[in-house]
Amino acid sequence: MTTDWKAKEAKYYMHVVNRQPVVIDRGEGARVWDVDGKEYLDFTAGWAVVNLGHAHPAVTKAIQDQAAKLMQTSNQFYTTPQLELAEALVENSALDKVFFSNSGAEANEGAVKLARKYGRMNKNGGQEIITVLNSFHGRTLAMAAATGQPHYQEIWKPLTPGFTNVPYDDLDAMKAATTDQTCAIMVEVLQGEGGVNVPTEGYLKGLREWCDANNILLIFDEVQTGAGRLGTLFGYQAFDVEPDVMTLAKGLGNGVPIGAFLCKDSCDVLEPGDHGSTFGGNALATAAANATVRFMVDNDVPGNAKKVGAYFKGKLEEYKAANSEVVVDVRGMGLLLALQFSDTISAKVVAACNEEGLLLNPVRPDAIRFMPPLTITESDVDEAMEKLGRGIAKALAS
Ligand SMILES: *Cc1c(COP(=O)(O)O)cnc(C)c1O
Repeated sequence: MTTDWKAKEAKYYMHVVNRQPVVIDRGEGARVWDVDGKEYLDFTAGWAVVNLGHAHPAVTKAIQDQAAKLMQTSNQFYTTPQLELAEALVENSALDKVFFSNSGAEANEGAVKLARKYGRMNKNGGQEIITVLNSFHGRTLAMAAATGQPHYQEIWKPLTPGFTNVPYDDLDAMKAATTDQTCAIMVEVLQGEGGVNVPTEGYLKGLREWCDANNILLIFDEVQTGAGRLGTLFGYQAFDVEPDVMTLAKGLGNGVPIGAFLCKDSCDVLEPGDHGSTFGGNALATAAANATVRFMVDNDVPGNAKKVGAYFKGKLEEYKAANSEVVVDVRGMGLLLALQFSDTISAKVVAACNEEGLLLNPVRPDAIRFMPPLTITESDVDEAMEKLGRGIAKALAS
């Protein structure tokens, strides 16, 4: 008799998410197989995490070798994979120092702590952080306050004080919300969870100039956009605007949980005792991430994301042109793309695509998000477009 995994979930797991009815057993590259052996093209990649594809040999080998040797020492000691990863990130970015955490939310918490210390030292004691509406910064209590989406905030009130949420892509709103207590502005370079929203030309540059003029730290939450997703190793490179602080997580370890926040030397204010983590930057996670980042850089994986992303976006535009009643917008960059429907049909489309063997994310009730591994080919895109077309037709007929 086969196990009823859905019943087990209902019995034992907190019901905090309505899952897609797919029990995934294994993966390879851009494909996964469920427990019944059915194959799917995975355009969710574990939520923009498995950027090199599932079971990538370089990452698997690094994990196996490290697991057999040493996994955890605490940060009381030096370990070599942690320092190799630190070197890879700093040498390939505009930032100078790094600290490793276990998740994106935790990386953002660290960035906010750094900004508040900076504010105490350099900005009249200022402790306020401005973020934007429709953003996503994680699920901790402070990040619920930072995340400008009321449905993530309402039930957790009172929220952590010190965060102001202003309209997205609105430089004047940011300026109006700035006070002499503002120590940082934190934004995603491109909103991921908020529906894949690309800022207008000049917005991020405008933020950079405003921060420079007012001694405010500019924090880019690149938890989703870092690690090659937008067609450059880090998202800020695609916009040609450097942050003072940058956070990473999702794609950094190709599936092994790890986050990071990086800063410029000019705001490297944390000192012994200010911050720490038991697991953060442990040998196992950093060995996986070091293999991921070095493979990505050595093989120009972001370049593939840029090329195949442009091809994919072109196909989505063609689909939109031929189905303008149903699809009203195509947006995104690199391999972080979204299709905006004229109606709230995402759930139906995703369910129909599951049946067709294509995994997608219903990022909004009326929009779906594509975030496949960055190693996909144009023929994977062609296959996804065929399945998507059949899935949308099925959803509309149901
Ligand atoms: C996913 C995400 C987070 C939260 O990361 P977790 O690892 O789930 O804590 C934060 N910011 C952005 C932009 C994200 O996409």
